[in-house]
Amino acid sequence: MQNTLTCRQATQLLLEDEDHEIRVEDRVALQVHVRICFACARFVGQLNFMRRATRAWRKHCET
Ligand SMILES: [Zn+2]
Repeated sequence: MQNTLTCRQATQLLLEDEDHEIRVEDRVALQVHVRICFACARFVGQLNFMRRATRAWRKHCET
């Protein structure tokens, strides 16, 4: 199995995934990369944290 994603490409895909669904093969490559790359795994964690924070903030503003 090849994993030719660079950290730059992985980051790009992660951000694209925020806006729209990325292709299945991109998602798989991303998961493989995140498993072997500590920096990108940490970036995913930060994205998830921001997503949660944004959701909580929106909820707060709606109520
Ligand atoms: Zn990486």
